[in-house]
Amino acid sequence: GAMIRFEQVGKRYPNGHVGLHELSFHVRHGEFLFVTGHSGAGKSTLLRLLLAMERPTSGRLLLAGQDLSSITTAQIPFLRRQIGVVFQNHQLLFDRSVFDNVALPLKILGLGKEEIARRTLLALERVSLQDKAEQFPADLSTGQQQRVGIARAVVHQPALLLADEPTGNLDPRLAAEIMKVFEDINRLGTTVLIASHDLALIARMRHRLLTLQRGRLIADGEAA
Ligand code: ADP
Ligand code: ADP
Repeated sequence: GAMIRFEQVGKRYPNGHVGLHELSFHVRHGEFLFVTGHSGAGKSTLLRLLLAMERPTSGRLLLAGQDLSSITTAQIPFLRRQIGVVFQNHQLLFDRSVFDNVALPLKILGLGKEEIARRTLLALERVSLQDKAEQFPADLSTGQQQRVGIARAVVHQPALLLADEPTGNLDPRLAAEIMKVFEDINRLGTTVLIASHDLALIARMRHRLLTLQRGRLIADGEAA
């Protein structure tokens, strides 16, 4: 089955704004894709639906076979364990070390100390920051901070990695570096979906690109 299945998904907010309009597309396990569109196109709505922060108001949305249209509140923590999220402003805790920032999701899952250390160092290795574990976010460059955010998002080995404008604050060279990190993670089997405005960067990467306009899918294909 597909990793993600949008079947005529509509999202209308209580104030009457339409976030998405009968959106249909599939994402296979292991795919790497971008979602783009102007402000207000529906990118954040799409991500929030996948995280079950919002419910579709029509249609059906399946994630790894689970129907998010009818998911119960009690099931949401289990859904979230399958997903990692990277934010534009990485949301690191500046009073904790790099290690503690990345380890946090595993502590919340209640794993043992040794397992936490093993997986945290593995995640830091994936973003080439294993030698920065004991430092604090303020000691790192912007690009390194964003890599810590990625390590934290993948430390629990999610099947799906979502990113919302992950290169929004970075210069083009750093942005390209961060994209390589996402590609490395994808190569290990994680499905990666990135919402981004950065068309120049997307065009260089030759992955699948979904283009939204006012809540509708207007293009789906390899970025040109
Ligand atoms: P994007 O992330 O592409 O900028 P959004 O998903 O934020 O697009 O917005 C899509 C549409 O849904 C816009 O018209 C926006 O105003 C509306 N919208 C988004 N979030 C909300 C909300 N919480 N309440 C009401 N309308 C919203
Ligand atoms: P982005 O450009 O990342 O989509 P937005 O400025 O569109 O950011 O939205 C920021 C936040 O404001 C989102 O969490 C969204 O839910 C909320 N939002 C967006 N549009 C509306 C709206 N029309 N009414 C209420 N909340 C909104």
